[in-house]
Amino acid sequence: MGKTTTIKFHDGHEMPQLGFGIWQVPQEIAGEAVKSAIETGYRMIDGAYLYMNEPGLGEGVKAASVPREDLFITTKVWNTDHGRDKARASVERSLKNIGVDQLDLVLIHWPVPSQDKYVETWKAFIEMRDEGMMRSIGVSNFNKDHLERIIAETGEVPVLNQIEVNPELQQPDMRAFHAEHDIVTQAWTPLGNARSFEADPIVNAAKRTGKSPAQVIIRWHLQLGNAVIPRSVKPHRQAENLDVFDFTLTDAEIEAITTLDVGLRTGPDPSVFKMM
Ligand code: NDP
Repeated sequence: MGKTTTIKFHDGHEMPQLGFGIWQVPQEIAGEAVKSAIETGYRMIDGAYLYMNEPGLGEGVKAASVPREDLFITTKVWNTDHGRDKARASVERSLKNIGVDQLDLVLIHWPVPSQDKYVETWKAFIEMRDEGMMRSIGVSNFNKDHLERIIAETGEVPVLNQIEVNPELQQPDMRAFHAEHDIVTQAWTPLGNARSFEADPIVNAAKRTGKSPAQVIIRWHLQLGNAVIPRSVKPHRQAENLDVFDFTLTDAEIEAITTLDVGLRTGPDPSVFKMM
């Protein structure tokens, strides 16, 4: 699994704890970015149909000198593809776009409660997983009530919920709920748009360890037990963001970073977001 620790899902499968996100990576350069990330040591790539770069993801996977079975590929089903038939068509399209026979993980990108189709979509995910189109199924941007509902109505617990987590939005309640239900918390926008790069707790930990603010924040995620998917199109930053396994933050440093939580999102609120 490359240079990172792994996380075990409740369904028995494993995923690299630190992966590579590709939101906003243009299709024209996605192949090169993914290839470079894999050659740097990343083994987990976080994609989505919405990102319009699934073909590039597939090109990068094929161009890199690492066998497919050693890589972990995630994609997501977008808001306009909720419902049984559309969700299936979306996963079929992603398999074709990326050029693989099976995905490692597929997520419902947002619950979009206003259209009230996420339970039906989750049922379709269970069927597709059972047929082997993907090995594991999870969700993204689900609040507690959305999680409780799909679990109550299907008995199937997502292996993972990908939500926004960074020093200014630490989501302690969601993380505790996930821990209670054996759901992995995967942090999106883990660097928080660099908003806390100059905050004392980050700067002090960076000085003591000789690491960069980004490395301190990624290390903080790992020590909290989060899976984390930083993105950079720059090979030197891809390497920097992966070079976080040779130091440890102290309990006092983790505690100090906790004080940066102001509950401020960089992205939308999942209870109302319905962009189509
Ligand atoms: P990140 O928190 O990973 O930050 C990416 C930005 O930080 C880029 O501008 C990058 O610039 C810069 N950066 C990366 N590394 C460093 C570094 N070491 N030092 C300084 N700057 C750095 O943001 P994302 O929003 O991309 O989130 C990560 C991934 O999460 C996404 O790519 C996507 O896969 C997923 N995501 C999922 C969402 C969901 O709804 N499920 C929503 C949003 C994101 P540069 O490229 O120039 O290096």
